[in-house]
Amino acid sequence: MGFQEGQEIIDLLPKRIERLAELANNLWWSWDEDGRQVFRSLDYELWRASGHNPVKQLRDIDPAKLDVAAKDPAFIELYDSVISKFDSYMSRQKKDWCGKQVPNDFDGQVAYFSAEYAIHNSLPIYAGGLGVLAGDICKQSSDIGLPLVAVGFMYPQGYFHQHISAEGWQEEVYQQLDFSEAPISPCAWPQGCGPLIAVPLADRQIFLQVWQVRVGRVNLYLLDTNISDNRQEDRGLSARLYTADQEERLRQLIVLGVGGVRALRELRIKPMVWHANEDHTAFMMLERLREECAKGTPLKEAVEKVRQKTVFTTHTPVAAGQHIFPYQLMDRYSRNFWESLGIDREIFLKLGDYSGLDAEKFSLTAFSLRLAGQANAVSKLHGSVARKMWSGLYPGKPIEEIPILSITNGVHSPSWRAAEISKLFEKQIENVASPGEYEELFWKYANDIPDDQFWAVHQLMKNRLIRAIQDRAQLRLVRDGVSTQQVLAMGALLDPYALTIAFTRRFAQYKRPYLILSDSERLKKIVTDPLRPVQIIFGGKSHPADYASKELLKFVYNAALDRRFQGRIAFVEDYDMNLARDLVRGVDVWLNTPRRLQEACGTSGMKASMNGVVNLSVRDGWWDEAYNGLNGWAIDGFKGGNPEDEDKSDADTLYNLLENEIVPLYYEHDRKGIPHHWIQVAKEAIKTINPVFNACRMMKEYVERMYTPVVFPESTYSNPLIEKEHF
Ligand SMILES: *Cc1c(COP(=O)(O)O)cnc(C)c1O
Repeated sequence: MGFQEGQEIIDLLPKRIERLAELANNLWWSWDEDGRQVFRSLDYELWRASGHNPVKQLRDIDPAKLDVAAKDPAFIELYDSVISKFDSYMSRQKKDWCGKQVPNDFDGQVAYFSAEYAIHNSLPIYAGGLGVLAGDICKQSSDIGLPLVAVGFMYPQGYFHQHISAEGWQEEVYQQLDFSEAPISPCAWPQGCGPLIAVPLADRQIFLQVWQVRVGRVNLYLLDTNISDNRQEDRGLSARLYTADQEERLRQLIVLGVGGVRALRELRIKPMVWHANEDHTAFMMLERLREECAKGTPLKEAVEKVRQKTVFTTHTPVAAGQHIFPYQLMDRYSRNFWESLGIDREIFLKLGDYSGLDAEKFSLTAFSLRLAGQANAVSKLHGSVARKMWSGLYPGKPIEEIPILSITNGVHSPSWRAAEISKLFEKQIENVASPGEYEELFWKYANDIPDDQFWAVHQLMKNRLIRAIQDRAQLRLVRDGVSTQQVLAMGALLDPYALTIAFTRRFAQYKRPYLILSDSERLKKIVTDPLRPVQIIFGGKSHPADYASKELLKFVYNAALDRRFQGRIAFVEDYDMNLARDLVRGVDVWLNTPRRLQEACGTSGMKASMNGVVNLSVRDGWWDEAYNGLNGWAIDGFKGGNPEDEDKSDADTLYNLLENEIVPLYYEHDRKGIPHHWIQVAKEAIKTINPVFNACRMMKEYVERMYTPVVFPESTYSNPLIEKEHF
């Protein structure tokens, strides 16, 4: 399918612009403004109608338009300059590794495994922050020339689209992805290899086909079980992200880990570092352990060999977030592993054990920590939580010495920062040599940007956001005939001149979306003040099987329906990357209210700060290390007590900040309507967040602190864990 279609597109394209097909099939355009401009100017209507998806656009375009473009000097000039930019990007050397000295001789291929990737909306294979991180890691690795290959799952139905019923219940709409309009192609196998990968699953084999996604210079390989060689029930295994059925989930994870390793072997890729993103990918380690043992290496040595090349990133600060499977299920699926290799079942199962775990249970996080020589948490605070949480795995070690490092997440700034903001700064400084320098040096000029210019850009983005939200609401009215009340709840009355707060993220109890709604009288006064109105935009998906989260969503949606708030509270449906991009650029305040110590990092607030949107957040995750007293607001001061006390204290702090500081500051402006003191805070955020919380800094840390010790073992670490416990 995809491939033939691709060929047809190439045949259709006039020779002069035939490389449009190649451009469309490399997601580089998704973060390069000029790359997008080519497709935008080719056919703007179709660009919008396709959801900014050039593959679909080229499939649907009227050939006559292509002929016109091929003869239009203005288009040709743009096309040529973008092709030349693309070629020079693709052939760039490693010289710009974040502009700093990363070991020159580092040449190891890094194999990165993740269950989800958020790269662009045309490839809906992500649910939230974990996927955004994985996508940003691919893009940033490409930018800095890090030789990374990524492995994941092709979910033909992806994550669901969200509708909210008139009563506020989430409805999940699954759409089958049309592969001919997705930026994927069948894997290009080396001569004589592929095209199928076999993975044993209990009593039978399951076969996978592999898709390839080009993310700049990084290749992402996606595994797909939907082929006729498989039984009907197996074909659907990769259909959806995060199935709720435990056994089905286990089967998915085995296919991802084992199938991923086998696919890389078949591709003749020889990774020097294996990086597991969260415990979803743990079976990648098991498969490599099997390979070692199959060579005759004794288990203990095999474990050591796997550890030497494995890096593991943990993302959850709560035990409930990890994958735990009963022995009975593990037996069913791992029996052929230990039986065929003559390994003692008890010893094997102990690899997933830790003190505090229920009997007869196997923890994938414990297994991953044992099989990875290097492990990290995703913010400084999360590091200290994780070291305590997993101390049972490292008996006798003082907490500070537990080998789980902290590498704070960062976001890929070209994807998340508005080009308009970057352009303001580019006017101030020329000759930036590398992306790393760019991220480090640029932002100190924030105070040189004239406030009126800064505010004009901000208002432009705010208008764009409100327009996008109202377009969505209008579409639902026209296409699906939702009620007027629902259209209002979806943000029809949003006002570009009101102070605008966003609370959009995955719906989870610990993130406490209810906090700002907890005192409705006090909130009503804040939002409906006629002179200083405030509006709040909510959004986010509940996991389809999480009933409590759906109840919470219903509660929030009902606030949006509540006439007392006069249309100042909105709930936007179907929160995704596309909407997130508009939101992090276009609101005034980014609100985050997790129960403290439960947000491992959080990245949406970084995206907001990069655009001069100010954070108002509990001091948790990344904000605990980013907040400096001037670059936003921190919800702090809880003195201890039970969760209800914490809610009360934090809600009170939140309302106080809004009433006494945030609203007054926002509405304090000069005669031209420029809020200079507010802009001061926004610029301070830009200045302090951009240089640190970007993916360039993050990848530099991964290379220096995690990958380099693996590639150069003389600088290696020692982790006596395995010997002490089990052998
Ligand atoms: C950035 C992003 C996230 C992560 O947000 P946090 O709540 O800050 O962890 C989730 N979903 C989407 C669509 C995003 O763009």
